[in-house]
Amino acid sequence: MLILLVEDDAAVAASSIDGLRSLGFVTVHVTTGAAALASVTSTSPPDVVLLDLGLPDMDGQEVCRRIRAASEVPVIIVSARGDEADRVIALELGADDYLVKPFGMRELAARIRAVLRRTQTPAPQPQASAIQEVGRLRIDRRAQRVHLGDEEIALTAKEFDVLAFLADDPGAVRRRTEILEHVWEGHWYGATKTIDAHVAAIRKKLGDPAWVEAVRGVGFRLGSP
Ligand code: CA
Repeated sequence: MLILLVEDDAAVAASSIDGLRSLGFVTVHVTTGAAALASVTSTSPPDVVLLDLGLPDMDGQEVCRRIRAASEVPVIIVSARGDEADRVIALELGADDYLVKPFGMRELAARIRAVLRRTQTPAPQPQASAIQEVGRLRIDRRAQRVHLGDEEIALTAKEFDVLAFLADDPGAVRRRTEILEHVWEGHWYGATKTIDAHVAAIRKKLGDPAWVEAVRGVGFRLGSP
């Protein structure tokens, strides 16, 4: 398990490397965005990237965007900037998680394991014949049809995919990045407003916004009005 630590602060880097080593992780340390990009695109890329946002040569968000454009490697942003706007931007740039400094080694290890679990587990595939009922909502994945009570709801293919993805685990929050990756299969850079447009259309067609609940700064979940 190879961790790429992108951190220009020598003291933070030293304590992180020690902590990661004691937890059984092998760490490669670089101090610039350019070196991080070189490592990710090298012949021995890391399994996880820990990315500081304040780097000497390049904004960390730009580094994150470029890593994501070049690789599927999980990225955990590690930053002193913990406000919601920074977190949302980072997640929308394709980061898998966001950790605010200062943090404990156990928390870091838990986040690393969690992103590895998520990224190494294939997305749940809908069963060919599954008809699912959530309250009055009935989703037929095989026929790609949705009924609300007796009434059929005409959704576009992408609207159906968004709804079906949320319904895979009713009540669970799906992050915007997860929805984009699942429904748009990663071809979505700069198009996160697309989710809002699709959610708005689904809510309107289902006649109640409570069917798709927004979780501020995170994503959406299937509700049950
Ligand atoms: Ca820094």
